[in-house]
Amino acid sequence: MSAGIAATAAALRVNAGVRGPAVPRAMKAWVLGGPGELRLVGKPVPRPGPAEVLVRIGATAVCGTDLEVIRHGAPALVEGGPPFNKNFTPGHEYMGTVAALGPGVDEFTIGDRVAVEIHAGCGRCERCREGMYTACLNYGQNYTGHDKGHRANGFTTDGGFAEYAVNHVNTLVRVPGEMSDETATLIVTAGTATYGLDVLGGLIAGQSLAVIGPGPIGLMAVGVAKALGAAPIVLTGTRRDRRRLEIGQRFGADEVIDAEEADPVAAVRRITRGAGVHYAMECSGATGAVDQAVHMTSRGGRVCLAAFAHEPVMVDVAYLVSNNIYLFGIRGEGRSATRRAAALLAQTRFPVELLHTHTFTLDRVPEAIRYAGERIEDAIKVVVKMEAGRGPAA
Ligand SMILES: [Zn+2]
Ligand SMILES: [Zn+2]
Repeated sequence: MSAGIAATAAALRVNAGVRGPAVPRAMKAWVLGGPGELRLVGKPVPRPGPAEVLVRIGATAVCGTDLEVIRHGAPALVEGGPPFNKNFTPGHEYMGTVAALGPGVDEFTIGDRVAVEIHAGCGRCERCREGMYTACLNYGQNYTGHDKGHRANGFTTDGGFAEYAVNHVNTLVRVPGEMSDETATLIVTAGTATYGLDVLGGLIAGQSLAVIGPGPIGLMAVGVAKALGAAPIVLTGTRRDRRRLEIGQRFGADEVIDAEEADPVAAVRRITRGAGVHYAMECSGATGAVDQAVHMTSRGGRVCLAAFAHEPVMVDVAYLVSNNIYLFGIRGEGRSATRRAAALLAQTRFPVELLHTHTFTLDRVPEAIRYAGERIEDAIKVVVKMEAGRGPAA
């Protein structure tokens, strides 16, 4: 057999069962070299397998966790180790258009606009079977010889700082009607806030909530909780967060506290007539914030931890135990919260688009990351958008 015929036969085998218009063989993608090193390279366009689709990416938001992955590696885990020098593409908050269907996929059609949630659990471990797929026991087990089916694009498998990505159908949500590409990248952030409120497990309606840290997840927690009827909602931040605290008010915070002007615990106690809040969400990762959240919470109340702290933090455990306060850590956006968050955002109950502050094209990813990391020009959500006017994949 000639080399040409062999190559054609191999291509046919690779493409068996994949349906869709022809897509290019190669794409532009950013890959992580050593810590902090990103390079724009050419990569083969990935092929969707069973239960997967190929997504032509429209926009990808930069998340604080991307900065962690790019600089320090964790929580990314690629081929059983740190993500460095493995041709790995980061980026996990993206949206796009379905460009090809893997074998047997009928849940989506070519051309559907979709946003993603990050985690596709293995579906075979104890946690996945309990519905806790963001806490899959086979996290990162997805490479040759260790493929348990787990996927977390941008953490354990290739992510969204590229022209195309492959997603399991379970990780896709339809983008509601008129929503812009930039706003659609925020659906997964709203999903994380929604999951945090789920885990707290209360009525939310008519109950009080304190949110520490007006970053994207904290602000989403305010907007989602307000839409669900929480009252009062107290949001705390620092002087540096002034613009973000203003957005918090637009999203429905009843009171915003500048922690440099007033003690946030005392303020929450004053607002709740001494009782403390039913629920607190710690979204800052600041040292001392977990202890603050605990002291803001009423007896029998619940605290959700949604931020990665950089060092072990001190908590007044005696206070926590003697007041029967519960602490819940969450990872990501479980229990299909992203799908529900998309439906909630479609109801435009709060001006979610205010979170998107800056846009860069795909060739300027390092600059986008610098804007997000250093909060240049008060950046909140920085979005990487594929080049304007790029033609259809052909
Ligand atoms: Zn994220
Ligand atoms: Zn699992």
